[in-house]
Amino acid sequence: MSHISYVNGRYLPHAAASVHIEDRGFQFADGVYEVICFWKGKPIDYKPHIERLQRSLSELQIREPFSMKALTVVVREVVARNRLTTGHIYMQVNRGVASRAHYFPKASVKPSVIVVTKPVAGPSEAMAEKGAKVVTTPDIRWERVDIKSVSLLPNCLAKELSHKAGAYETFLTLPDGTVTEASASNAWMVTPDKTIVTHPADGSILSGITRSTILKLARGAGYKVEERPFTLTEAFAAKEVFVSGTTTFVMPIVQVDDRVIANGAPGTVALDLRARYRAYVDGVDAATAWDI
Ligand code: PLP
Repeated sequence: MSHISYVNGRYLPHAAASVHIEDRGFQFADGVYEVICFWKGKPIDYKPHIERLQRSLSELQIREPFSMKALTVVVREVVARNRLTTGHIYMQVNRGVASRAHYFPKASVKPSVIVVTKPVAGPSEAMAEKGAKVVTTPDIRWERVDIKSVSLLPNCLAKELSHKAGAYETFLTLPDGTVTEASASNAWMVTPDKTIVTHPADGSILSGITRSTILKLARGAGYKVEERPFTLTEAFAAKEVFVSGTTTFVMPIVQVDDRVIANGAPGTVALDLRARYRAYVDGVDAATAWDI
């Protein structure tokens, strides 16, 4: 008997059951899931699992793809087609397929749904009789923002805030007010005495490639540059604020929350760095550009 899985309205042989490469579950880990024990022909604690699924969806503002009754029909169909007696049911609902952008896609984008069964229960009775060991690791779920990982759900949630507010970016702040970076770019400010400041690449930001190039360009142009944390309060009082990134280049920021920065116009340093970065980009030598 072949293993059948459900993907977006279709019951397919497991090996052919795939999601699109622009699926946000794949691109951003932008989805939720449940695993339900299936024991001797019946799901265990089905209702609380479905309630937790609904809660997770609601917390992430992912709409329910269809009613939970309809989902149950699908789940039961997958169970029946696989003649599952004991094992588990895995289901995932994510925000759906859309051209890659951190902010949420249009409301018309249908959430993706997959349902998979596995005829395998938990660890063996033998293990339970003997007892098992554990090892330990610090709970850093998921603080490795220095890694350019596709685990971007927090970035997506942050970006959605600015998108909704008609803003370009969302600054990420720590409890002490430090601005680490933005949801998809690095954050900078220029102090009243014209020092350029950006958070150090110390593991608590993504070390932007554009950031590194701008640091070089700024230092080369004779600006005073400091890699140190700065707070939102400092940013409010700054002469200039800007962000940088591969698709952003240098973007002057004239307002942070409801606070207008300086006179509300793009600053001369940001505009100068944007021009210098643009000249740098134009000047990259095609003969060596692919060298690694
Ligand atoms: N910070 C975050 C969280 C990002 O996602 C990005 C780019 O996607 C950046 C900074 C800027 O990095 P880069 O200049 O390498 O594009």
